[in-house]
Amino acid sequence: MRRSSVNRLAAGAIEGPIDLPGESHAESSVAEHRPEPVALPTRLRKPTCVSTPALADRFGRIHRSLRLSVTDRCNLRCRYCMPAEGMRWLPGLAIATADEMIRLVAVLARLGVQDIRVTGGEPLVRPDIAVILERLRGVTGIREISMTTNGVLLARHIDALVDAGLDRLNVSIDSLDPVRFAAITRRDDLARALEGLAACERHPTLGPVKVNAVVLRGVGEDDVLPLAGLARARPYVVRFIEAMPLDAGREWNADQVIPGDELRRMISAVWPLRELSRSRPSAPGRRWRFVDGAGEIEFVSSVTEPFCAMCDRLRLTADGRLRSCLFATEETDLLGPLRGGAGDDELIELILANVAAKGPGHGIGTPGWTYEGRPMSMIGG
Ligand code: SF4
Repeated sequence: MRRSSVNRLAAGAIEGPIDLPGESHAESSVAEHRPEPVALPTRLRKPTCVSTPALADRFGRIHRSLRLSVTDRCNLRCRYCMPAEGMRWLPGLAIATADEMIRLVAVLARLGVQDIRVTGGEPLVRPDIAVILERLRGVTGIREISMTTNGVLLARHIDALVDAGLDRLNVSIDSLDPVRFAAITRRDDLARALEGLAACERHPTLGPVKVNAVVLRGVGEDDVLPLAGLARARPYVVRFIEAMPLDAGREWNADQVIPGDELRRMISAVWPLRELSRSRPSAPGRRWRFVDGAGEIEFVSSVTEPFCAMCDRLRLTADGRLRSCLFATEETDLLGPLRGGAGDDELIELILANVAAKGPGHGIGTPGWTYEGRPMSMIGG
C-alpha cells in the first residue's frame, strides 16, 4: 500500500476504495450502485462541508460489506470451532425471521452496505435460505450476494440458491483426506462436501468458487499440497485461512497457527507462485497464481498479517446484534428495538453509534490481549 494512501486514509479524506495498480474496477461499480443519499435525522447530520459516507468509522474506513449470519446451528462439529456436543443453540424465537433480517439489511443498504456474505453456523441448515437470498436480491443497493457453507448440503440446494440470486460461494473444506476430515469435523461427510463443490461447476456464473481451508499445526500439514493441487486441477481458488482465537472451548493458542507465509513457502517449493494484487483494497486474502498458470490460491493471514486497516466489514448475528468487528467486545441489539416498534431513524442511530465506536483492529498478540466474546459459530465468518 502506497504510504500516501495510508496517510490520506488516516486523514479520513478518502471517499471511495483506493485503486491498487491495475485494480480500477471497484470505482466504477461503486458509482453504479451508490444508494440514494440517506436522509439522516437532523441531530445525526454531519456539518455539510464534510461529505463522509454514513458508515465511515473514525479511522476513515467505509463499511460496505455485511456478514449476515442466518443461524447459529451447524451440522458439523469442527474441533477448532465447537465442542463435540455442539453449542447451547439460540432459542428459535431469538433468531431473526426473514422479514426482520430483510428490514435490517434494507436499513444498512440505505447507509451504504452493498455486499452481503451469508453465513451461519451453517446457512444451509436454515429451511428458508433460498427465500432469504431471493429477498436479499430485491433490496435496493445490494450489489453482490455471496455465501460461506461447509458444502455438506450444497448438492441438494445449489440450483435453488443460484436461481434465488447467489453470486459467489465459498465452501469450507479443511482436508481432502476422509479420515482427517472426519477427525477435524467429527462427521464423515467429506464425500458430500466434495459432491456439493462439484455441483457448483454446473453454474459458471458462480465463479470462481473458493475453497476455504483452516490448516492447524500438528494436524493439517499433510493437507497443504493436496489442497493446493485442487486449485490446480479444478476451477476453484483455494484460500488458506489462519486459525483465529474464536473457538467456543477457548483452547486456541498461537502455536496452532501455521502462518500464511510458511504455507506459501511449502507450496512454492513444489509449485512456484507469483503474487497478484488484492481483488479490492479491503479484501482479506492475498492472491497468488501458480507461475505455470495452473490456478490461483489465497492466504487470509488475519493473525500474522492483519488487514484491519482496510476493513470494510460489519456483522449482523442471527439474533440481530450488530458487530463492527469479528473480535468486537461490544455489540448493538437491533432486533429488540425493531420488535419493539423502532423506526428506521432509531435503527440508523444505533448503527451509526456502533460504527463510530469501532476499534482500530483485533489486537491479537498485543500485550494482555484476550477475547471473551462470542465464538465464531455465533458470529458467522
Ligand atoms: S479483525 Fe475486525 S477490524 Fe480486523 S479485519 Fe477482522 S473484522 Fe475487520
